[in-house]
Amino acid sequence: MNKKQKKTLIRIIISALLLILLTVFNKYLPFLQIGAVRFIVYMIPYIIIGYDILIKAFKGIKNKQVFDEAFLMAVATIGAVVLALYSGSGDYLEAIAVMLFYQVGEWFQSYAVGKSRRNISELMDIRPDYANIEEDGALKRVDPDEVETGSIIIVQPGEKVPIDGIIIEGKSTLNTAALTGESLPRDVKEGEEIISGCINETGLLKIKTTKEFEESTVSKILDLVENASSRKSKSEDFITKFARIYTPAVVYAAVALAFLPPIISLLIGNAPNWNIWVYRALTFLVASCPCALVVSIPLSFFAGIGGASNSGILVKGSNYLELLSKTKIVVFDKTGTLTQGVFEVSGIHHSEISEEKLIEYAALAESASSHPISKSLQKAYGKPVDRTRVSDIKEIGGEGVIAAVDGKQIAAGNDKLMNSLGVSCIDCRSVGTVIHMAIDGKYAGHIVISDIEKPTSKAAVKKLKASGVKETVMLTGDSKAVADKVAASLGIDRVYSELLPGDKVAKIEEILKNKGKNDAVAFVGDGINDAPVLRRADIGIAMGAMGSDAAIEAADIVLMDDDPMQIAKAIRISRKSLRIVYQNIVFSIAIKLLCLLLVALGLANMWLAVFADVGVMILAVFNAIRALFVKNL
Ligand code: ADP
Ligand code: MG
Repeated sequence: MNKKQKKTLIRIIISALLLILLTVFNKYLPFLQIGAVRFIVYMIPYIIIGYDILIKAFKGIKNKQVFDEAFLMAVATIGAVVLALYSGSGDYLEAIAVMLFYQVGEWFQSYAVGKSRRNISELMDIRPDYANIEEDGALKRVDPDEVETGSIIIVQPGEKVPIDGIIIEGKSTLNTAALTGESLPRDVKEGEEIISGCINETGLLKIKTTKEFEESTVSKILDLVENASSRKSKSEDFITKFARIYTPAVVYAAVALAFLPPIISLLIGNAPNWNIWVYRALTFLVASCPCALVVSIPLSFFAGIGGASNSGILVKGSNYLELLSKTKIVVFDKTGTLTQGVFEVSGIHHSEISEEKLIEYAALAESASSHPISKSLQKAYGKPVDRTRVSDIKEIGGEGVIAAVDGKQIAAGNDKLMNSLGVSCIDCRSVGTVIHMAIDGKYAGHIVISDIEKPTSKAAVKKLKASGVKETVMLTGDSKAVADKVAASLGIDRVYSELLPGDKVAKIEEILKNKGKNDAVAFVGDGINDAPVLRRADIGIAMGAMGSDAAIEAADIVLMDDDPMQIAKAIRISRKSLRIVYQNIVFSIAIKLLCLLLVALGLANMWLAVFADVGVMILAVFNAIRALFVKNL
């Protein structure tokens, strides 16, 4: 509870006590029967509980922004007091009770919202407070912001890794749960990359940082989550627009309710009963307050986004959550998305030089590429690359690389690359990704590498279908043989192969053009050669994006690990959140209309109206919080 909530709670308790005392002792205190004294005594709890609302309403009127909740409450309760004075009934209890209930509702709402916000930030509690550096043999804590790239930092067991880097000494187990939602610990050792935000569990690690804190994974994620709520969904826009029309409409309806029936009675010659209709109009105002709607819709989105990030799915805004729930077509990139992107060399054919030499040239030429093919060739080479031997590196997306190695021009890539160099290449009969090599413009053989499917890819495609996705499509720059084989084995509906990065954009545009009006198309990729496609699709989902900044920037949804099962989970989370949003909209509006009708007919009094309002709001808020629970989706 914060200070303001405490203060409101004390006000609620004091005025509630006063209210009870006044009700109980009403008969025994003769001075309470004197009009002026009675008025003053009853106004004490009213002011205690309502002064801030009255001030707010007054300010609203002054700034010409009438018609908000405070205005409704102020008009209704002051009206009730005036009515009690005018009729001489001295029944001020109602005005106080209405304010009291309203404040109870407000208090509950701010408590619940605050609590769920806190929960979410606790879940996302990955911000490191310090980094350890070694100085004269002693550990010193410094602000992670101050650590320069290339510094050595030390992470002790139990501490968070503050900055991305490479382990230069030690081995340990990492807990990545806060980042990926994956509870299995991960073993790491010397030479491996490590990302910030994980918790070091067992051993002491010495890490050479490869980025600044600002550029590290943990900062990126926090930025993303913090900015998420600034992007509004259509449903939230709807609420704003709705309130803009709704509030003046009810105010006019209330005015009509107060004046029309008495005037009609006058016209047909009966005595008008002003008291009854003015009271009904005031009750109507109290009953009309749309707070359940206004509070619970953003809260539902917020809870959905929070629940998702807890499972390692980062959604950049409620608009994307809403779009995601409409996904009917999921388009995949192949390498690194459905397959592991870790290739094994399965053959070397027609080599003009020794096989070792061919691999060595390939690895050196690829030394600056971040493509999975390059990583695999580095691994096959198995030795550290001497970068001084390589120069003039040129990477052509979807084709390969050309570089000067030891003064020779080395080209490594697919047949497109060879064609563009005017080198005729020998086709390969085995199914696999073929890397043709040319040395100084002469064909030098090819390396066949093959990738394996991720173990969960097949199940992921199936689960997508079960989650309401109508069609799955695969786009790849790889050869037709490889693409068709992967697609068939995974159960992908459509496949397009041998695409250059530009062709992928054209394909996604074609798919976008042919989709249904309310359907959304999601593209899932790793950000290598496909960032423009991520951007172009209705929803770009970057997978295992921890390494690729381009992907994190281009995507609307970022999956922290590279498990394709997470795609279906993200869609399910979005559907659940949207279901809750619609439930709340329908539920609050239906109860609201019913209440208004009862009040207009004189079947409900002000007590009941506030009670219904606060009740609906509390239920709607509880319902919204359900969106936070997504573990088993
Ligand atoms: P995918 O669509 O499967 O993710 P890419 O568009 O990244 O594939 O690449 C398509 C094809 O282009 C690869 O299968 C490969 O033949 C060639 N290629 C791309 N980058 C490289 C590279 N760095 N080295 C060699 N070949 C490459
Ligand atoms: Mg790719």
